[in-house]
Amino acid sequence: MKNNKDLRAWLDNFNLSHPLVIAGPCSAETENQVIEIANQLKDSDATVYRAGIWKPRTRPGNFEGVGSLALDWLKRVKNETNILTTTEVANANHVDLALKNDVDILWIGARTTVSPFIIQEIADALNGSDKIVLIKNPVNPDLSLWLGAIERIYSSNIKNIGAIHRGFSTYEKTKYRNNPEWQIAIDLQRKLPDLPLILDPSHIAGRRDLIFDLCQTALDLNYDGLMIETHNDPDNAWSDAKQQITPSVLKEITKKLVVRRKSNDNDDFKTKLGTLRAQINMHDEQLINILGNRMKVAKKIGSLKKENNVAVLQSGRWNEILERMINDGKSEGLSEELILKVFKAIHQESINNQNQILKK
Ligand code: PEP
Ligand code: MN
Repeated sequence: MKNNKDLRAWLDNFNLSHPLVIAGPCSAETENQVIEIANQLKDSDATVYRAGIWKPRTRPGNFEGVGSLALDWLKRVKNETNILTTTEVANANHVDLALKNDVDILWIGARTTVSPFIIQEIADALNGSDKIVLIKNPVNPDLSLWLGAIERIYSSNIKNIGAIHRGFSTYEKTKYRNNPEWQIAIDLQRKLPDLPLILDPSHIAGRRDLIFDLCQTALDLNYDGLMIETHNDPDNAWSDAKQQITPSVLKEITKKLVVRRKSNDNDDFKTKLGTLRAQINMHDEQLINILGNRMKVAKKIGSLKKENNVAVLQSGRWNEILERMINDGKSEGLSEELILKVFKAIHQESINNQNQILKK
């Protein structure tokens, strides 16, 4: 990701008071609606105007976008408000039309990122373009599909690539429309540290009241920007009505957001941070040491079970450990969620080790 310099510089150039904000309706509906929203966004933090014109819908029969006639509406937005424009492209034809009509930023939707064939088609159509291309995460929680799409676009000589985190489908019902699974985006950031990362709280939340908190979490995690669905009459929007907010709510949200600094040159801060980080490193080493010792004991138990022809999994014992650890965790201020994740992982590793011993 060496050649992301221009996009990085552009993003870093933003006033520290706010991240990149991309706002606008889920879908372009009418010329008046598109222009009205753009006018209402003129005095907001929005630098880029979004509107879907080709809409991938989960089931047929819903509004599928007005199509290429809205490309002229986006041109009017840019001419009349000076706000840059972005739209979703989902095939090579969309790419050609968007490039011909001078859309500034192209984004690839979550339903497209899942398909290497269609991503390759889009990458070929984009070849050598100097446009910024933003790639949403795939609908399913799969980091390698997301990385694969980024790599395909990158291989097409696209200099300016960013990622949009819009959450992931789950069969389980949660309060979100799409589960954030922050860890996947953090892993992406770790693998590609120069890749700008933008949060789309609208498609994660699926409802208005969660948008502020999601945006603040993203800024706390050092995201570079936000893409927020904004509509002049959200309740009557032709798509995604429940999650859209008005331009005036957007202004309230961006005003309330606290932008964290990436670092601080202040010496006192650096000294304190250094001391605390040294403590974290020491505890991490202790954790590794303790985990290693625990595993040695688990292996001894494995040998003992083998000698006595006893099954590896003893669910009574396992439930007893979990219950005790959840209680002990609570008194250390550790959530049940963390204890369950950590101990399930440790337990699984012990079982794997013991199974190998029994198979010998
Ligand atoms: C959208 O941005 O309107 C959209 C369709 O998003 P996603 O691809 O994240 O579902
Ligand atoms: Mn939408």
